[in-house]
Amino acid sequence: MQSPRLVIIGNGMAGARTVEEILARDGDFAVTMFGDEPYGNYNRIMLSNVLAGVEDESGIFLNDLSWYADNGITLHTGTRITRIDRAAKVVYAEDGSATPYDKLIIATGSRAFVPPIPGIHRPGRGYHQGVFAFRTLDDTRAMIRYAREHERAVVIGGGLLGLEAARGLQNHLSHVTLVHAMGHLMNTQLDAEAGATLQRSVEKLGIEVVVGAQTTEILGKHSVTGVKLADGRTIGCDVVVVAAGIRANADVAQASGLPVERGIVVDDQMRVQGEADIYAVGECAQHRGETYGLVAPLWDQAKVLADHITGRDPHAAYHGSRVATKLKVAGVDVASMGLKEPESDDDETLTYAEPRKGVYKSVIIRDGRLVGATLVGDVRKVAFLMQAFDRGLALPEERAELMFDLGGPPAEVSPAEMPGDAQVCNCNGVSKGAICSTVQSGCKTVSGVMDKTRAGKGCGTCKPLVQRIVEWAAGGEVEEDPAASWYVPGVPMPKPELMRAIREHGLKSVSAVFATLVPGGKEDAKSKMGLASLLKMMWGGEYEDERDARFINDRVHANIQRDGTFSVVPQMKGGVTTPAQLKRIAEVAEKHAVPMVKLTGGQRIDLLGVPKEKLPQIWADLDMPSGWAYGKSFRTVKTCVGSEFCRFGVGDSTALGIALEERYQGIEGPGKMKLAVTGCPRNCAEAYVKDLGVVAIDGGKWEIYVGGAAGAHVRKGDLLATVDSADEVITLTGRFLQYYRENANWLERTYAWVPRVGIERLRKVVVDDADGIAADLDAAMAASVAAYRDPWRERAEPATPGQFRTSLPLVLLPQVPVR
Ligand SMILES: Cc1cc2nc3c(=O)[nH]c(=O)nc-3n(C[C@H](O)[C@H](O)[C@H](O)COP(=O)(O)OP(=O)(O)OC[C@H]3O[C@@H](n4cnc5c(N)ncnc54)[C@H](O)[C@@H]3O)c2cc1C
Ligand code: SF4
Ligand code: SF4
Repeated sequence: MQSPRLVIIGNGMAGARTVEEILARDGDFAVTMFGDEPYGNYNRIMLSNVLAGVEDESGIFLNDLSWYADNGITLHTGTRITRIDRAAKVVYAEDGSATPYDKLIIATGSRAFVPPIPGIHRPGRGYHQGVFAFRTLDDTRAMIRYAREHERAVVIGGGLLGLEAARGLQNHLSHVTLVHAMGHLMNTQLDAEAGATLQRSVEKLGIEVVVGAQTTEILGKHSVTGVKLADGRTIGCDVVVVAAGIRANADVAQASGLPVERGIVVDDQMRVQGEADIYAVGECAQHRGETYGLVAPLWDQAKVLADHITGRDPHAAYHGSRVATKLKVAGVDVASMGLKEPESDDDETLTYAEPRKGVYKSVIIRDGRLVGATLVGDVRKVAFLMQAFDRGLALPEERAELMFDLGGPPAEVSPAEMPGDAQVCNCNGVSKGAICSTVQSGCKTVSGVMDKTRAGKGCGTCKPLVQRIVEWAAGGEVEEDPAASWYVPGVPMPKPELMRAIREHGLKSVSAVFATLVPGGKEDAKSKMGLASLLKMMWGGEYEDERDARFINDRVHANIQRDGTFSVVPQMKGGVTTPAQLKRIAEVAEKHAVPMVKLTGGQRIDLLGVPKEKLPQIWADLDMPSGWAYGKSFRTVKTCVGSEFCRFGVGDSTALGIALEERYQGIEGPGKMKLAVTGCPRNCAEAYVKDLGVVAIDGGKWEIYVGGAAGAHVRKGDLLATVDSADEVITLTGRFLQYYRENANWLERTYAWVPRVGIERLRKVVVDDADGIAADLDAAMAASVAAYRDPWRERAEPATPGQFRTSLPLVLLPQVPVR
């Protein structure tokens, strides 16, 4: 017998989730899905991160096309359904195709609400040039492309979406104004004081905010030039983003005679009112008069619908959701649940405000139960408050504990106390029960459970709780992650195997590694930096550079600082400089009003507080090579004055330090490499605590120490060898560094790697050549040395147009002090 035909209109978060839930219940259907976007299913929440440049597009896909194929689902992307023939049980698409169904689910979501402002549309041609909505991946891409070429943006709407858009746009253009019609930001969720606190924090990020401002016209003939407000003010801009709310996408339902009010009207089984075989789920559905604009409710709805339609529980019923939001809005933590203001005199209200810090908290209690809470700027208590709100837990006698940790036992709910259906991950709708059953089904690693359930894979704030629940559910049997031995998380191979495969297949770019070595070819953003470093080490000049494989420091060749500015450190080999160089550095610092000039621990001069867009000019004015103060690479060789000047010196440490730095400058590695050469065992250059330290001893000999550290970890290096000449030091240094580069895990510093491998084994390989690989190591290092190119030369030809355009940090941080 043929399986019943299930058709889903809408391939967004609710549609795909419902299908996942149906599959999880072994629902027997021939599934066909229609989505008018040209993609598989992605996490719409993450578009804010894509716009802000902190997430790669590839990282937001929930189910790729192979998932549909693997599960026997027929997916029609880029196909819009225009009509449902309820009598014939057929859906018609824009392309004229007709698809019959036995059961139909409508999951068409919402669309951006665009107020009828004059000038917002070009007659018959969509939006005016420069006007964008913020709803889909295509919207986001178009906005990024356009914004990059322009200077000023106005965002209309000061709700969650408008704030996210404003923050994201700052990454692409220099000036953003947020125009909000109501009296305070996020007025749906926050009271006036919380809104004002949020506004101040957002303004400190450089976003201009205008509240109580009705936009009456979009100005500009061919493209946008500004917006006009009701009070006659105009704000000049060339990009307008409309984030004025959403409206349920119910056209198809309406055109087909289904009941539509603010959304498609459904009953407690998510069945469209009056229909036996048509359901609606997600933002397009209206249940008991409510429509929802967040994902948490749609996870609940998807479960009920799946239970019902598969017959697992035909009477499963959705009773509505209590909406609690926990978000990072434009870099500011905000959480809100239930009431935002008290409703009667009997409601107990507590508020705490620390405006200077941008902190505001309020809780509303009725009959001893939490009925509302708002937190801005400090959301540390949110987990407990959410549980109390969802479950109606008894509240602590000491009410202040609702807002602060008072030093008593934390009012955290332990995993054991949490009910099974308590929502742990709001972004992806994962309950404690789902985590526990994944553990019970045999998955006993935290990362494995996160992968399987997606818990913790949204904004990530619930990760500690996910970990506690996994530990509790596994009853102390949490296993080490098999991925722990992989070189990078996205390619399932330990380093030696990975290097072998890279060589075998001749893979010279990061994308080629993913395409060839990862089943399904899935790229993993977190693995790119490690792979780029490995490939560069292996292939030297033949390595094919792909910019997206780099971390910000490596993209702009400078060290990002707390406030989003950069530090510029020119090379100063062995800590030696000249009056001419000093003069030039001083002039550059003066010319560019560099906020702070500081000597580094590595004996160089650091120009701190340089904005990104100034970097190329500063490098040009300095006209000195990069000091590599930022990369996972060879950084510096600290030296003491040595035999040239010091009364105690027995070796010319300065000359050897310079020679080492000249040869190995900028060499990439799994971690940074800091070296030192000191002229006698008094050790003024601190060589015993360096990745590689050289100490001159009597008789013209040199000792080489490896695996030392004096950072967060302190370790005296192990003696690798004692040699007779500076040349031997240079050769053994290269060989040791190459062996480290080829064998250490990504980000594993020598202080961890040397004891892991053992100094005896290292001595055998590097000094005694017991494995017969010394010549290969020397040759590989020589090839890397030959391929060296000063990255600051890139100033003349930026690799991408946005390479040196400034972007703001996600949180507001103090500025580098000017002294
Ligand atoms: C930028 C942004 C940030 C957000 N941040 C958060 C957040 O932090 N937290 C949170 O909880 N929520 C957030 N949301 C809201 C969340 O994304 C939505 O609640 C969720 O996506 C709704 O799921 P849905 O399936 O109902 O609709 P959608 O995900 O919109 O999916 C509907 C799909 O159906 C398609 N479709 C519509 N009509 C048709 C048709 N006739 N034929 C074929 N296909 C059709 C649509 O194009 C769309 O692809 C955010 C939304 C946006 C846009
Ligand atoms: S380490 Fe020795 S040679 Fe170098 S400065 Fe100190 S005392 Fe002088
Ligand atoms: S010592 Fe620590 S805090 Fe200070 S600059 Fe270095 S990393 Fe930053």
